[in-house]
Amino acid sequence: MDFNDTPEEAAFRAEARSWLDANADLKKAGDAAADVLGERATPEIVKQAQAWQKKKADGGWACLTWPKEYGGRGVTPIQNVIWNQEESRYNTPPNIFGIGLGMCGPTILTHGNEEQKKRWIPEMMTGQKIWCQLFSEPSAGSDLAGLRSTAVRDGDDWIVNGQKIWTTGAHFCEWGILVVRSDPNAAKHAGLTYFVVDMNSPGVEIRPITQINGGQGFNEVFFTDVRIPDSQRLDAVGNGWQVALTTLMNERASIGGGSGADFGELINLAKSVEINGRPALEDSAVRQQIARFYTRSKGVAMTGNRTLSALSQGKTPGPESSLGKLVGAKNAQDMAAFAMELQGAAGMTLDPNETPAQGEWQGRYLGIPGLRIAGGTDEILRNIISERVLGLPPESRADKGIAFKDIPTGPPSR
Ligand SMILES: Cc1cc2nc3c(=O)[nH]c(=O)nc-3n(C[C@H](O)[C@H](O)[C@H](O)COP(=O)(O)OP(=O)(O)OC[C@H]3O[C@@H](n4cnc5c(N)ncnc54)[C@H](O)[C@@H]3O)c2cc1C
Repeated sequence: MDFNDTPEEAAFRAEARSWLDANADLKKAGDAAADVLGERATPEIVKQAQAWQKKKADGGWACLTWPKEYGGRGVTPIQNVIWNQEESRYNTPPNIFGIGLGMCGPTILTHGNEEQKKRWIPEMMTGQKIWCQLFSEPSAGSDLAGLRSTAVRDGDDWIVNGQKIWTTGAHFCEWGILVVRSDPNAAKHAGLTYFVVDMNSPGVEIRPITQINGGQGFNEVFFTDVRIPDSQRLDAVGNGWQVALTTLMNERASIGGGSGADFGELINLAKSVEINGRPALEDSAVRQQIARFYTRSKGVAMTGNRTLSALSQGKTPGPESSLGKLVGAKNAQDMAAFAMELQGAAGMTLDPNETPAQGEWQGRYLGIPGLRIAGGTDEILRNIISERVLGLPPESRADKGIAFKDIPTGPPSR
């Protein structure tokens, strides 16, 4: 592994830094932390985020890996990582475009026809239209192919009925990617079709879900006789699972190991709070626990570097990159719990005025369990590692080769 930039990478980093210096301010202590679940996205924040995305697009710094013909820059994945590293040092509005740019865009570029790419990609790239992902249902999450929302052909349209859930950002999005069952007589994975849906269509009802920390990042979305023109179907009828796999591969890559754990902040906290009249950092048990977090954080970072090295050499990172999210998110959650313990009684409140670090650790403690579920739960990631990295036998599949309507199950959700 070589951690140094090549001369080309160093030149690209310098160019990125110089543009960022001219257009944004460096982060400083006390700036708001990343809003990973989009829960603080008020209309004003959405506007600020859109303005920043437009500025990046105008400056040639949006969607860097996308082909030049669709407004991207056609750079290598490692150059994109360099840009992300540099941008993260600046105080910019929350990134509410992760689903659109990280998942919907790459899926449309792979499976869309020319007309669809021209219709949706430019407004997505400039942030003027925001996108959400309508995949999960009350009885289909990890087992996504078990979904039950339906699409029935009616002339040039499809009529969609059903319910989606956990739809991040649906309340401020104009477009969504949607997988539904178009043929209940086909086997589970074969009867699905993939659409793009206008979230303002008649019959779409969005109900926010309140999270444990009081935020509202995701929603239930109900479809009642929603008409979707056939021109908004991506790829062939019945090929929805293949298209969804493209989205999910991009989802895993974009969620990656980002857990928000900042080791330096934990050290600062341990210096600033006291145990028995001395800074907590001088307590041997505290130091031992911090050392444990440090070794795990370093292990995750080094594993991440393997992915970066693979990217730098033009290779595609393998399923072992699941380790980053699996270990990193758990480590971040444990660190947040420990930080709250260090704060003593103040650790029990969410009030930013009453807690050291303005309630940042409490916010993380309540938010990180979501990261351990979204984009593949811990158990699903373990399954991936056991089957695809360690080569263990796959899970048994009792529903294989049976028409979906004949799979024994409970009553449908609606
Ligand atoms: C913050 C957040 C944002 C999200 N945003 C979106 C979004 O924008 N769009 C969207 O479509 N979805 C979204 N989701 C939903 C997410 O994709 C699902 O929650 C996830 O796939 C898990 O599905 P589930 O919640 O139905 O749990 P289930 O799949 O029902 O799992 C329940 C439990 O069973 C375990 N389990 C399930 N299957 C297996 C197995 N085969 N082996 C071992 N254990 C298993 C799971 O690990 C889990 O512990 C979001 C979720 C979160 C938390």
